[in-house]
Amino acid sequence: MVSIVKKLFNFLLILLLVGCGSTQKEDLKIEKPVEKKELTIEDYKNNNVNELGEVPIMMYHGIHNKKNSETSYTGGNVDKDGYQRTTEAFINDLEFYYSNGYRMIRLTDYVDGNINTELGKSPIILTFDDGLSNNINVTGLDKDGNIIIDPNSAVGILESFKKKYPDYNVTATFFVNGGLFGQKEYNEKILKWLVDNGYDIGNHTYSHVNFTEADSKRSIEEVGSVYKILDEIIPNKYVNIVALPFGSPYSLDHTNMPYIFSTDYNNKTYITKSALRVGWKAESSPFSKDFEPRFLKRIRAYDNNGKDFDIEMNFNLLEKTKYISDGDIDTVVIPENEKDKLSESVKKEVKIY
Ligand SMILES: [Zn+2]
Repeated sequence: MVSIVKKLFNFLLILLLVGCGSTQKEDLKIEKPVEKKELTIEDYKNNNVNELGEVPIMMYHGIHNKKNSETSYTGGNVDKDGYQRTTEAFINDLEFYYSNGYRMIRLTDYVDGNINTELGKSPIILTFDDGLSNNINVTGLDKDGNIIIDPNSAVGILESFKKKYPDYNVTATFFVNGGLFGQKEYNEKILKWLVDNGYDIGNHTYSHVNFTEADSKRSIEEVGSVYKILDEIIPNKYVNIVALPFGSPYSLDHTNMPYIFSTDYNNKTYITKSALRVGWKAESSPFSKDFEPRFLKRIRAYDNNGKDFDIEMNFNLLEKTKYISDGDIDTVVIPENEKDKLSESVKKEVKIY
């Protein structure tokens, strides 16, 4: 008797579950797609929308766990040229970008012209070269085998900003050499964690080569071997972008450039869609005639009292020239006086106001 009741109960339970499943499916069917709010010319004017404006690509290297007062240089620079910065300076930079209306986007999305920044805000891109351990310092593994990230390393700080400002869209691209992040036992876990958590990994050559001093064979090995390493650890999840070491070979016409953009290595061809230079100011909109994704400029993220294209000087210049989004990834909205800058190859809907 007990078993019959039990069977009946199980049968009713199955009916109930099947019933729930089908109701959910019907609910999904009748759900309408979210309609985009149609923006007016007034909205564009009020927000100064300009999707032909410039985009800052920030270039960082090391982030050192120090106060600004603990260095011998200005504004949190740890070395003379400000390639190395303090954690205090990095945190200040991140607060500055956010409060000035900048929201992060992925470098690869910028190159592809997929800018999803909200209405009235401006895109900014963070890059880190050299795979320094202070970019993402792992202090151990938790009981589930996940990496524990030092909160005072660059990624630890970025993760705290992810929580503090959910609309900041925290992301960055890390350009690594053959030694990856210099933490042998954790390198693979670090790469996987980064790509699973909204960050990107690019190629900075195997041994930080100066391409002006390399022959074609060496150039191919330097680029190809890093792609091969990334291909083995995070297949299809790294970005085909090379940050040129020292910015070398300094010209798109250099004889080694073709080997950087198309690299035959280990029976595979690796295509590089962009190369990054070292230096000095913001880049064109990806919808501009001037956009050259194979040779992108970066801003050195350092302090020099507002001179020599430091952060302050660049962001003062950007006040007049910056990209300001319409909040719609599918349209390119530009003011009438900028329309001559528009590239003919733009495939998206263009609105001129
Ligand atoms: Zn470098």
